[in-house]
Amino acid sequence: MHQIWQKDITYLKRVGPQRAQLLKQEANIRTYGDLLVYFPRKYVDRSNVTKIRDIGGGDPHVTLVGKISGVSKNSSKRGRSVLQATFSDGSGTLGLTWFQGVRYVESSLPVGVEVALFGKVNRFNGKVQIVHPEIDRISPESGTKHVLKIIPFYPSSDKLTRIGLDARGFRSVMFGMLEEAHAHIEENLPEELLQTYRLMGRHDALTNIHFPQSFEHLKQARRRLKFEELFFFQLLMAHKRSNFRTEHAANPFPTIGPHFNDFYDQHMPFELTGAQKRVLKEIRADLKRPVQMNRLVQGDVGSGKTMVAFMTSLMAKDNGFQTALMAPTAILADQHFQKLTKLAEKAGMKTALLVGGQKAKERKAHLAAIESGEVDIAIGTHALIEDSVKFQKLGLVVVDEQHKFGVVQRAKLWAKAQPFPHNLIMTATPIPRTLAMTLYGDVDVSVIDELPPGRKPIKTLVHHENKRLEVFGFIRRELEKGRQAYVVYPLVEESEKLDLIAAEKGHELLQRAFPNFRVGLVHGKMKAEDKDIEMEQFVKNQTQILVSTTVIEVGVDVPNSSIMLIEHAERFGLSQLHQLRGRVGRGSEQSYCVLMAGHKLSEDGKKRLAAMRDTTDGFKISEIDLELRGPGDFLGTRQSGLPEFQLANIIEDQAILKEARAAAFEIAETDPQMQAPEHQMMIQALRAYRARFGMIGSVA
Ligand code: ADP
Ligand code: MG
Repeated sequence: MHQIWQKDITYLKRVGPQRAQLLKQEANIRTYGDLLVYFPRKYVDRSNVTKIRDIGGGDPHVTLVGKISGVSKNSSKRGRSVLQATFSDGSGTLGLTWFQGVRYVESSLPVGVEVALFGKVNRFNGKVQIVHPEIDRISPESGTKHVLKIIPFYPSSDKLTRIGLDARGFRSVMFGMLEEAHAHIEENLPEELLQTYRLMGRHDALTNIHFPQSFEHLKQARRRLKFEELFFFQLLMAHKRSNFRTEHAANPFPTIGPHFNDFYDQHMPFELTGAQKRVLKEIRADLKRPVQMNRLVQGDVGSGKTMVAFMTSLMAKDNGFQTALMAPTAILADQHFQKLTKLAEKAGMKTALLVGGQKAKERKAHLAAIESGEVDIAIGTHALIEDSVKFQKLGLVVVDEQHKFGVVQRAKLWAKAQPFPHNLIMTATPIPRTLAMTLYGDVDVSVIDELPPGRKPIKTLVHHENKRLEVFGFIRRELEKGRQAYVVYPLVEESEKLDLIAAEKGHELLQRAFPNFRVGLVHGKMKAEDKDIEMEQFVKNQTQILVSTTVIEVGVDVPNSSIMLIEHAERFGLSQLHQLRGRVGRGSEQSYCVLMAGHKLSEDGKKRLAAMRDTTDGFKISEIDLELRGPGDFLGTRQSGLPEFQLANIIEDQAILKEARAAAFEIAETDPQMQAPEHQMMIQALRAYRARFGMIGSVA
């Protein structure tokens, strides 16, 4: 990279120490290079000159070319100065008015010379006028930065505006910088890529994104720069993936043996769905290689992830390895334990449960059995991570509901085996495919996009307060048939106290409305053990209605509960609503989700409820959610590893993303070490992007 891009902007024309200081503070601009990639937030077309005669309805912003005359200063009724002038262009005249900065404007107004004028036309007392127009002399020394062009507007701040770096001031500074330095803008993508993907060169792209020759140039410039961002991001991903593969050696599982085969032939309680079979094949292919599997299985609630995990543990067993399955809560771990123990018995395998609060003696026995290799599948919570847990030969780690665990916890579990165990992550919170493709370099994604046959889709109803009696009547009839119901209140963000009151009031209300049934309550302020007790009572049908704030445990399985009533449903996010709905529909009975909505709904609120009513497909719902919220919000940018792209938008720019990804992965494949001479030009940019995206572990 040319050294000029390191040059401090203090030395730039029209900047100086004070402005430099503020530019650094307010906009993080320190060098010429920083300024170069400080992009306009919008553009205004001043290339179309209008005649005063032709000013009509339409867009009130116009560019006019003509002369100013007849300047006069008056006082307003409140005694403030008002400056007025006449502007004419040969086709007509209009008035110009200033209320602010009158003294300065008066002294600097270019009267009687040709100027370009830009502003918003309005009518006052029947006369056409422009208040506070932007005025530029049309002369060689005025340059072309403000006049008769597509004009960039840069993001600014109050502080910057106060020292003259408003849209106009910024434009001047940028123009000066480019004048001095544009010849040093270097290409960072190989010629072949530019050709294949018909990309504008970097010099043209960067000059045109600041001062576009035309809207078509601007479009091409933006496309090129978006491609660049996405390309380097994907190249880093590709390197991350290949590094992962070389650094994470693992024991291959070459054998499909008697445990898998016997179970499959004799003990399968049902036929696997096509999606389950496909995912198992993908897992099988991973496990054959001497590289750690790192696979995320996304499957909607009830899609049968547990069976996939179990079948994978059979593969481990056939190759002489143990499996650890980690769940986020004790209840979930226990549920897995119950289910898997039944399956494991048929396969002649042993399980053990490790959770907090177990008796010392019991725990000791489990630890011993895991260490001796007697136990084939160890199931538990964080308790599995503790140092005292030692495996004889751990070969597979399954993590359920991945977002509840941090990377550190996972790594700790991995560290219990050398080389690392294979890793299977299961989640019911689908990330849209489009996003998954962008996000994961070192994780492979499988999708179970099919529910076992014969499921009755949950019926979802949206109701308002005026239907409450009917809704309660309906719930009563279901309870009388022996079913159970969840009632969920939203978290009241401003106050945990209010939150609690809402749930406690709800509890009271429901107990009164359903005197013949028992109503339980769980909320966020409860101790974990108390929560577990309440949940347990519901699982055992000792309570028939469970009132809660949003703490209902992810993945909890109470097949007998067939109703999910969500109060103030409009306050919940889509994925949350979908997760909550997934708590029912697990048994053979028809299940219902009732969304109680307020009367004043925002547009987004309406869309969310409609989406819930119209589809039960978690992937569709997550796509809609992503659309409504945007990727940053959807994922919570920081934890997600999704970088802040400057120009690219991974939803709107799917087409560019696909091309950039294909290009990046091809280069990573053919030249993983970036040694080819024609690839040298990318290395510096790759480093810079790596620093910007905060990504580690890449080659260059
Ligand atoms: P989740 O993906 O939410 O973890 P589970 O693994 O708990 O789903 O499966 C939900 C239910 O569906 C379980 O009762 C399981 O036994 C059953 N199931 C899983 N796969 C099939 C299948 N292929 N055919 C029929 N029932 C299945
Ligand atoms: Mg599950």
